[in-house]
Amino acid sequence: MSTTMDRPTGIPAARYGSRIGAAREALRDAGDAALLVGVGADLRWLTGYDAMNLERLTMLVIPREGDPSLVVPRLEAPRASLVPAVGAGAVRVVTWEETEEPVALVPGLVGGAEGRAGATESGGARLLVSDRLWATFVLRLQGVFPRVPFGLASDVLRPLRMVKDAEEIALLRAAARAADRVVLAIAGGSLVGRSEHDVAREVRERLLDEGHETAEFAIVGSGPNSASPHHDATERRIQAGEPVVLDIGGAFGGYGSDTTRTLWVTGEEDRGPDAAYRHLYEVLREAQAAATAAVRPGVPAEQIDAIGRAVIDTAGFGPNFMHRIGHGIGLEGHEDPYLVAGNREPLQAGNAFSVEPGIYLEGRHGARIEDIVVCGESGPDVLNGVTRELLVVRGI
Ligand code: ZN
Ligand code: ZN
Ligand code: ZN
Repeated sequence: MSTTMDRPTGIPAARYGSRIGAAREALRDAGDAALLVGVGADLRWLTGYDAMNLERLTMLVIPREGDPSLVVPRLEAPRASLVPAVGAGAVRVVTWEETEEPVALVPGLVGGAEGRAGATESGGARLLVSDRLWATFVLRLQGVFPRVPFGLASDVLRPLRMVKDAEEIALLRAAARAADRVVLAIAGGSLVGRSEHDVAREVRERLLDEGHETAEFAIVGSGPNSASPHHDATERRIQAGEPVVLDIGGAFGGYGSDTTRTLWVTGEEDRGPDAAYRHLYEVLREAQAAATAAVRPGVPAEQIDAIGRAVIDTAGFGPNFMHRIGHGIGLEGHEDPYLVAGNREPLQAGNAFSVEPGIYLEGRHGARIEDIVVCGESGPDVLNGVTRELLVVRGI
């Protein structure tokens, strides 16, 4: 079952050293003291360590000067020694004992004036903590650095993580292709009379069979439920003569898949979509195509949203498209850049994001089309390959 032929090689270990170097340079440019990165996507991006987020502190400390350290509980030292950035010599491991307060180790690893901040003012240089660091760690860190201002690590990491390298794009592409095969398998299988739950379970199983390590979501919105963008699969049974919005994804080599196709299930009686639904879908398809075609470096992120939205507005469905057109994707399912009104930041080559307009008529039906798109040097690189036409299937 598993199609591993196109499994990409992943991120070379030496890359982590360059990423840590780039982060440190950005830290110095910002005039800040150190990056304090807890468990999560930032840590994985910088070191390759996919650590468990637990009450025991795991933290990468990147000071302005001196060696970066990976602080881990001693029981996790064997795992930490296998971390790519450690193997590549870019980070040393510092362990703490079960009875120690690990946060107390951090000032020594930050060094400089800030490390001695019990006695010295820091002069405004900040400690940048990863955005998702738990409050329990942030408050304890503030306790050991009482005079140092804190900020968010995304100030320096966001611009770096937003531009994907070739290996990251290869992983995103493999994730997208795997999800595509799942969409086609579901579209080609039996649907009529099955519950949304049952189909969602099949989606998850197939994502794992296709090489995903996690199957994070499987939105199966049938009939009137297709009008709820973030519908939770229910026991409702799929009927002939109605649409099914299928929005599925998970992680593949750490990188997200996220794709939506809308099916129309005819059943044995061949109950196809009526003209009104075909019209709605055609407007949506045009909006998605126009927004995707506009992707290229220099275009403000909000313009992609505006271009898709204009098509839907003109057709009179404006109020029925109530969410932004897309979100960035990478090690996190939703990350920068967000394609939303107000985000004037220009797209850059290497940005990866969804383009996913939808039209939702509450209580009746809806539709959405979602692809993952990489901003290439001269235009869009669409990672998903399943047709964007309405998938009219018998489902029997
Ligand atoms: Zn969503
Ligand atoms: Zn989605
Ligand atoms: Zn999405």
